Amino acid sequence: MGRIRILPDQVANKIAAGEVVERPASVVKELLENSLDAGSTSLRVEVESGGRRLIRIVDDGCGMLRDDALLAFERHATSKLRDVKDLLSISTLGFRGEALPSIASVSRLLLETRAAEETTGTRIEIAGGKMLRCEEAALGGGTVITVRDLFYNVPARRKFLRTEPTELAHIASLVTHYSLAHPEKTFLLTSGPTELLHVTPVATRKERVYQVFGSQVLDELVDIGVREREIYLPPPSVPASEAIAEYRREPGPDDDPPTRTFRLSGFFSRPQVQKSNRNSIYIFVNGRLIRDRLLLHAISSAYHNLMPPSCYPFALLFLECDAEEVDVNVHPSKTEVRFRHGSFIHDFVRDALRERLMESRPAPSFSPRTVEAAQPAARLPYSEFSQMMENEAPAAPAMVEVPEATQAPGPAEPAMPGFTLRPTAPPAPRLDFSAPPLEITPGPPPSGKLSRHLDAHGEFPPEAIPPPEISLSVLSDLRPLGQIHESFIIAAGRDGLWIIDQHVAHERILFEQVMKQRAAGRVEMQRLLMPMILQLTPEQQIDYARIAEELNASGFETEPFGNRTIAVKAAPANVGAADLEKILFEILEIAETELRGASLADLRRNICASIACRAAIKINMRLDAAKMEWLLRALAATDCPMSCPHGRPIAMHYSTREILKAFHRI
Ligand code: ADP
Ligand code: MG
Repeated sequence: MGRIRILPDQVANKIAAGEVVERPASVVKELLENSLDAGSTSLRVEVESGGRRLIRIVDDGCGMLRDDALLAFERHATSKLRDVKDLLSISTLGFRGEALPSIASVSRLLLETRAAEETTGTRIEIAGGKMLRCEEAALGGGTVITVRDLFYNVPARRKFLRTEPTELAHIASLVTHYSLAHPEKTFLLTSGPTELLHVTPVATRKERVYQVFGSQVLDELVDIGVREREIYLPPPSVPASEAIAEYRREPGPDDDPPTRTFRLSGFFSRPQVQKSNRNSIYIFVNGRLIRDRLLLHAISSAYHNLMPPSCYPFALLFLECDAEEVDVNVHPSKTEVRFRHGSFIHDFVRDALRERLMESRPAPSFSPRTVEAAQPAARLPYSEFSQMMENEAPAAPAMVEVPEATQAPGPAEPAMPGFTLRPTAPPAPRLDFSAPPLEITPGPPPSGKLSRHLDAHGEFPPEAIPPPEISLSVLSDLRPLGQIHESFIIAAGRDGLWIIDQHVAHERILFEQVMKQRAAGRVEMQRLLMPMILQLTPEQQIDYARIAEELNASGFETEPFGNRTIAVKAAPANVGAADLEKILFEILEIAETELRGASLADLRRNICASIACRAAIKINMRLDAAKMEWLLRALAATDCPMSCPHGRPIAMHYSTREILKAFHRI
């Protein structure tokens, strides 16, 4: 007898479950997707113990017919695909027919469902993949699936689960983001007696973002609006999909229009909001939440020179395209996709974000406004949220809204950042969903009306308070008042007070100037009296050979000079001889660490950024009034006055409104 055996279904299901059901949040994801595919308008998710003890999803979708309900637990049983050509144009979230049998094989599952066409419903109970009960039952329309004791029969898996708050955070993050993708539906998430998220239907995604995160976060975000780009399709002789080309549908007269449109919408944070990881980036492709390296890279490139390389933004992006443009059949958990025109989509997303970032030219302000009551589950994105929950006691009291009166006035945060002169210090992260609201002044402000009546210091005429101004275009009429620490320019503006970091401001001005000269092929150079000889390591030699041409075009006239040595004969006009060696090694280092494989445009930007940084006026340097004036005008004229090419903020704004609030005048 041979040694190969076909595995029984029960074993096969458990193996599949290994891929599909990684943790409680994966169960929630699969069940939510099923409910969405069933056309539900109201989705209720109940969990207990971070989903380990119980996960229940209640929907008002189409329900299942009795026969279907039984069939649904068979492997590869689905109502969403009929034949292989359907794989090319999947419009539902599910299609593999694996989720229900997989989940049922590693938990105790109860299905209660009734289709509109049937008068009675069906109740099915399964434990560890074994059917225990199947009966007719009087049920309302829609489907309820209850999953208890996840992994009760797979101890190895159970051991890998993180703490309950962590698992709950994953679930909350997931439900929150699906709720953002479907503003027209009701979502309710509860953990035991605590309501974590409850949103009712609204007309726009923006309103949903407001419902979930509150107005402060909305203010921190840039709305992409709707951006579109079309791709011209080559003649149909090119295979539609490498993987299943042989089954490709023959193109008919109405098929394959010569162009396809990609549509991008959503929200992303201003460059001042800096996260230490990618957990705050959510990408939906045709309504499906995915992780995709290509798109993550596109987002990072959009922030190139606006944010330090190891920082990430918050982003909530929705990409819509023809179903045939994206292959979702890549991994059983369906969180990865493959694009038919990957680099086109990459560039589209990068350009769309970058253009909007440039348009919005936002400025950071000093004080976060009081946080609008955001939903507890929405103190997201995930990283902060889970962090917060992991730091809490198991009962997760952080999930309960703290009433205003008992809220601490916030940690002893100074009204303005302390000015330690460390120009490389990263900016304080904003968009911090977990932090309690900060007050600019110590102690609570006197309450509203009464204090105003008693105020003998004179009312501030309301018309004198300009509407909050977030655009840096106001920089053009700033009046410099002086410097502090000979490093930061203090300026009065139409709306309040500004502090500008003179070094990074000048860096930005020079960066754009150098980039423009480079693009026009007219880089100003200065010849050195004596060529400078630099010794390279073998590795640097390789990198040098690769970037020599770009270096020359950027104003560094260099040539090989014997073994692993180069001679520098000229340098960009702004770079002093003293800095030349440092800057060249810096560029070689960039070439080595980041840019292997990166695009020429990125390399060019990095070279220009290095030149600008070296040539810019330093901190601890006295500037006279005329110089400060010039600097502010020149900064206002730049395309992107909000952050230096390395991503640090340039200007801080303390608005009139904030000043008035701090003095209890409003
Ligand atoms: P898939 O979603 O890939 O089809 P599943 O195992 O998740 O596979 O579900 C199997 C089938 O069960 C689905 O195709 C669908 O017909 C049915 N089903 C699952 N959940 C629901 C639900 N909440 N409402 C209605 N039908 C459902
Ligand atoms: Mg499914």
